[in-house]
Amino acid sequence: MFEWLIAGGGIHGCTIAAHLIKQNIIKPDQLKIIDPNPEPLADWKERTAFIDMPYLRSPGVHHLDIKPFSLKQYGKQAGTETDFYGPYSRPSLHLFNEHCDRVIEETALCKSWHTGLMSIVVRESDHWMVQTKKGDRFYTKNLVIATGINRRLFLPEWGHKAKKLAPSRVSHVFDNRKAAPEGPIAVVGGGISAAHLTIKLSKQSPGQVTQITRHGYRVHDFDSDPGWLGPKYMDGFSKMNAEEKRRTIQQTRHKGSIPAELNQKLHHFRKKDAYRLLIDEIVDIEYKNNQFILITQSGKQLKVRTIYFATGFAPDVMSADFLANLIKKENLQCAHCGFPLVNHQLEWCDHLFVSGPLAELELGPSSRNVIGAMKAADRITAAFF
Ligand SMILES: Cc1cc2nc3c(=O)[nH]c(=O)nc-3n(C[C@H](O)[C@H](O)[C@H](O)COP(=O)(O)OP(=O)(O)OC[C@H]3O[C@@H](n4cnc5c(N)ncnc54)[C@H](O)[C@@H]3O)c2cc1C
Repeated sequence: MFEWLIAGGGIHGCTIAAHLIKQNIIKPDQLKIIDPNPEPLADWKERTAFIDMPYLRSPGVHHLDIKPFSLKQYGKQAGTETDFYGPYSRPSLHLFNEHCDRVIEETALCKSWHTGLMSIVVRESDHWMVQTKKGDRFYTKNLVIATGINRRLFLPEWGHKAKKLAPSRVSHVFDNRKAAPEGPIAVVGGGISAAHLTIKLSKQSPGQVTQITRHGYRVHDFDSDPGWLGPKYMDGFSKMNAEEKRRTIQQTRHKGSIPAELNQKLHHFRKKDAYRLLIDEIVDIEYKNNQFILITQSGKQLKVRTIYFATGFAPDVMSADFLANLIKKENLQCAHCGFPLVNHQLEWCDHLFVSGPLAELELGPSSRNVIGAMKAADRITAAFF
C-alpha cells in the first residue's frame, strides 16, 4: 500500500510529487506515479521541442520546486546571460527543463515511476485501488488526479478529411508521429504553438510556409492577466458560484494568444517573405498529384504538400472513462459545466485530490499552467505538514 499515488507525470504530477517529498511528508518509496510515458515530463518535453519554443511564456518564478527563486538561483549557477528573457525573466526552455531534471533527481521521482495508463479507480474501505489498462493494480491511501487536459487532439472537420486523403502528409503538432516537412507547408492555427512552428519552418524552408488562422494574432503577454495569480482577482473569484466561475474563466483566459515579442518576430519574418499569413477559414479540401488543394471561405485556393495542425486539444476534459465511472460510483460533486467541485485543499472527496483543469473552479484561470501546479501542490500538501 502506498501513502500517495499520483496519476499523471507531467508538470502538475511531478510538482505535487516533488513538494510531497521535499516537505518531508513522504519518502519516495511511499509514492507511486503512474503515467503512460517511460519517464517524467515526456509529453511536455516532446511538444515544446517539436515547435522549437526558445522561452517559456511564464516567468522565472514558475517552476516545479518549492522555493520561489529556485529556478533563478539555478540559472545563476548553471545558466548563461540569455537564459532569462524580458521584464518577467521568462526562462529558456533549456534552462527550465534542466531545472526540472534536477528537481526530479533530487526527489528520486524515477524510483516511484510506473509506466501505464490509469483506467480504473475504485474506493475499497479506507484506500483506493488503481488499475492500469494493462491490468497492474496499486493500492493507495491518497490519490491525486493530475492527468492534464486529455489525450485527444483537436482537428477541424476538414482536418479529418485531410488525414484520410493522405495520412502521412498530415499531423497534429502533438501527434507522436509527425509528417516530414515537405514544402509547400501549411500551419493551421493562430496560437502560440502555431506561431513557434511557423517561425521554425520559415527558417528551414523560407517562402514555403503559409500559416492559416481564422483570426488575426491575439497579442497578450500571458495566458491570463497576472492579477489572477493573487488576491487582486482571486478574492472575488472565490466568492462566485460555479456558473459565474466558469463564465469568468472562459472570458479571462486569452485562448489562442501569443506574447508581443513573438508577434514582432512573426512580423519580421513576414516582411522577409519567409512565410505568408492567411486569415481565412478552410471549407473544403482535395488531394491531387501529391498535393492538397485547400479551398477557403473567401474562394481562395492554396496548394500544399504538408499540413501541420496546431489546433490544441478536444475541450471535453471530463469525458475520460475512468473519471465518468468514478464520478458515478462515488457520487462526486460536479458543477453544471461537468467539472469537479472541490474544497480549498483541492479534495474532491476524502483522500482524492485533483489539479490542472480539474481544479479550475477552485484555482481560477491559471489552474492549467505551471503556476497552477505550484498552487495545487501548496494547497494539497498544506494539511499534511
Ligand atoms: C507548447 C506548450 C507550451 C506551453 N508553455 C507554457 C508556459 O510557458 N507556461 C505555463 O505556465 N504553461 C505553459 N503551457 C501549458 C502547459 O501545458 C502546462 O503548464 C503544463 O504542461 C500542464 O501540465 P499537466 O501536468 O497538467 O499536463 P500534461 O503535461 O499534459 O501532463 C499530463 C500527464 O498525464 C498523463 N496522463 C493522461 N491521462 C492519464 C491516465 N489516465 N493515467 C495516467 N497518466 C495519464 C499524460 O500522458 C501526461 O504525461 C504550455 C503548453 C504547451 C502545449
